[in-house]
Amino acid sequence: MPKLHELTAKQTIQKIQDNEVTAQECVQAVFETIHKLEDKINAYVTLVEEEALNKAKEIDRKISDGKPVGKLAGVAIAVKDAICTQGILTTCSSRMLQNFVPPYDAEVIERIKREDGIIIGKTNMDEFAMGSSTETSYFGPTRNPWDTSRVPGGSSGGSAACIATNEATLALGTDTGGSIRCPASYCSVVGLKPTYGLVSRYGLIAYANSLEQIGPMTKDVYDCALFLSVIAGHDSKDGTSVNVEPKDYTKCLKNNAKGLKIGVPKEFFGEGTNEAVEKQVWNAIHKLEERGASHEETSLPNLEHSLATYYIIAMSEASSNLARYDGLRYGYRVDKDDGDWATVYSKNRRDGFGAEVRRRIILGTYALSAGYYNKYYLKALKVRTLIRENFTEAFKKFDVLIGPTMPFPPFKIGEKIQDPLALYMSDVDTVSTNLAGLPAISVPCGFTDGLPIGMQITAPPLREDLTLQAAYTFEQNTDYKTKKPAIN
Ligand code: GLN
Repeated sequence: MPKLHELTAKQTIQKIQDNEVTAQECVQAVFETIHKLEDKINAYVTLVEEEALNKAKEIDRKISDGKPVGKLAGVAIAVKDAICTQGILTTCSSRMLQNFVPPYDAEVIERIKREDGIIIGKTNMDEFAMGSSTETSYFGPTRNPWDTSRVPGGSSGGSAACIATNEATLALGTDTGGSIRCPASYCSVVGLKPTYGLVSRYGLIAYANSLEQIGPMTKDVYDCALFLSVIAGHDSKDGTSVNVEPKDYTKCLKNNAKGLKIGVPKEFFGEGTNEAVEKQVWNAIHKLEERGASHEETSLPNLEHSLATYYIIAMSEASSNLARYDGLRYGYRVDKDDGDWATVYSKNRRDGFGAEVRRRIILGTYALSAGYYNKYYLKALKVRTLIRENFTEAFKKFDVLIGPTMPFPPFKIGEKIQDPLALYMSDVDTVSTNLAGLPAISVPCGFTDGLPIGMQITAPPLREDLTLQAAYTFEQNTDYKTKKPAIN
């Protein structure tokens, strides 16, 4: 019998509704795990234990009074610290926002609350979501539960780690260039980046608006589908929100891949791909074939340019988005306001932002400046269109595209942080999805030397159902879901 903190969201909800356990007991069990493991993992920036337990009591009361409860009633949910939560510190893991308490909830938080989900805390991340290792956080790195000397991936490293350790039952991440899928892969949990526009970005602290989405990070594929059904849907407060009918994604989960046409782009297995990763992903593709799928190798030639294109666009947007943090209207302010406006402004920004964020602001500003705009930013936009066209062509022939989520297994803390380009290279298989606005899921597909490997399944716009269905079929026919890090 799994213990309460080990339950999936689906199991938790069932047990609470059947009166086998109370919401309060479930939330308490999760907090006990947090108190036991946080010293070793550092998944959280902020915890809201008292508020969470009060909310759990409220739900238990509703149930004992026979009143209806929401779809996530009693589930302990962790939220990446880039998403605004009313009355709860929201730092983006930056000194710049170390005291920022939002006066409002992001749309996704409102939706969770409407369904009686319980927010338990805010998770650690790379500063302003810039990174792939959760090492650039002002609050120190999060550690990988499978090997605490290694990174959990990033930038949603806290959200992935707390799912792997049962320090939360569901978590929200954000993905601008892989930040949900990378840590999901590195911590052996499920993570989905939705189609651009499917989930409202209202209340998400912006890094690169044209690329990012909020998405679910979960213990299994069913929970991923369930959580997506709650957070997805049109929101008039987000101008890029797609107007589609709400959907119950759990309905598309069938243990069957009959007729599924898989494309395997050779660009997803490029130079630097670890052999064990390559082997495990191929094994996974063959597993799907046993359940009725077929595969064909293919090529999306413009993907070769996706890293360069992504980093120019992401940094350009970041330089503009982060201009608002001057310490005067928002953010960290140095103690003494001596000197003129320009001096105070640059001191605030120099001390408020970490090195990686400053690097990106400078590079992004350069790429947008007169004389370089055409050469870099405009060119990147044109290549982005070509990348998108490659995907459109591929999806005329295939239902999904499959490859590794990350080219190599989790690396040591400190190993790559001094070499920004090496760190950027680790995003080679994830960023093209964001440039094209497509949905993609990372699902655990094996281990090498005890370190997790993830498979990435990409589908056409708004076909989250295809990614979920393929991931579910794979999960049902393997036992990676049951493997948990020894630290538990
Ligand atoms: N690693 C990528 C970057 O640093 C992606 C980050 C993200 O998705 N937020 O830009």
